[in-house]
Amino acid sequence: MSTHAQKETLGFQTEVKQLLDLMIHSLYSNKEIFMRELISNASDALDKLRFEALADNALYENDSELKIQVSFDKAARTVTISDNGVGMSRLEIIEHLGTIAKSGTRAFLNNLSGDQAKDTHLIGQFGVGFYSSFIVADNVVVVTRRAGLGAEHGVRWQSKGEGDFTVETVDKATRGTEVVLHLRPDEDEFLDGFRLRGIIRKYSDHITFPVMMLKQGDDKKPETELERVNSAAALWTRPRNEIKEEEYQEFYKHVSHDFDVPLAYVHSKVEGKLEYTSLLFIPKLAPFDMWNREQRQGIKLYVRRVFIMDDAEQLLPNYLRFVRGIIDSNDLPLNVSREILQHNKTIDSIRAG
Ligand code: ADP
Repeated sequence: MSTHAQKETLGFQTEVKQLLDLMIHSLYSNKEIFMRELISNASDALDKLRFEALADNALYENDSELKIQVSFDKAARTVTISDNGVGMSRLEIIEHLGTIAKSGTRAFLNNLSGDQAKDTHLIGQFGVGFYSSFIVADNVVVVTRRAGLGAEHGVRWQSKGEGDFTVETVDKATRGTEVVLHLRPDEDEFLDGFRLRGIIRKYSDHITFPVMMLKQGDDKKPETELERVNSAAALWTRPRNEIKEEEYQEFYKHVSHDFDVPLAYVHSKVEGKLEYTSLLFIPKLAPFDMWNREQRQGIKLYVRRVFIMDDAEQLLPNYLRFVRGIIDSNDLPLNVSREILQHNKTIDSIRAG
């Protein structure tokens, strides 16, 4: 065994610890959102893989059917969310899941009022993300492998969500990430196929990748065939009159990490010399970090339905930085970079629009 395989125990960063504590106690009334957060992370990881594979097709490792799978095990009392996305290396998982707080964490903690309703809203804005796992689980195991690394470079991360977590190097044949939630004693409601399907449709219907589950069998004859649970069509490509209000609202929550519904939205298709679709939202409340000029911008850029980048700050003037949403262009090249965006006629026209 190489020294790298050694199990190490690391402490959560202080701010991560505070966040975890707070979340477990104040989000208890809306605990099913863990599924939305984990599926959202899986979807981001698939987007990243697809983007990186534009430059290096070998990253697909002969498995280009990008998907998310949700399963549960009644005997073991676990719910598992897995993806064949970009995965994480040992260093990445240590940074992303525990030792480096996201840039907004301190600002977030400073903004807490102690009023539970207000703080819950704030947590939503901040994006609870992965740590929401601990609302329903008292033990979380993540097994992941970065696309492009060998099977021997898998990593197993484990934590009870208290002060620390462990990482060790393991073998993982397939790329991507598997999050196993060992449910808390009172959370058996999630060991139910109908319940899980309901949650997935409610929060993740608009996710553009298929979310798969085993077909419902019975105890005598468990099913082995997978079926798609969400509709998996990019919401913004559908005709406006066929999209329900709730679908816009859930999509907004996905792109903005807001708990609340938006104040207003504009969904428009521009056709002609330049072709793009935009779906932009105005949040009800100002983001807690709006006065931070470095704050990340809320626009995701897509090119022909392929996700290209978050926070494409070239697309909107700075004073509109509270706007959230997506822009999907038919004219930009797929390999567009931030540098290219700075001097691009298509971008200038979209911005003017
Ligand atoms: P956020 O998604 O808002 O960045 P999270 O706490 O949910 O915050 O996740 C932190 C980071 O961990 C992500 O930005 C990503 O880099 C990494 N991550 C989480 N889930 C996955 C996954 N399924 N596959 C790959 N990376 C992931």
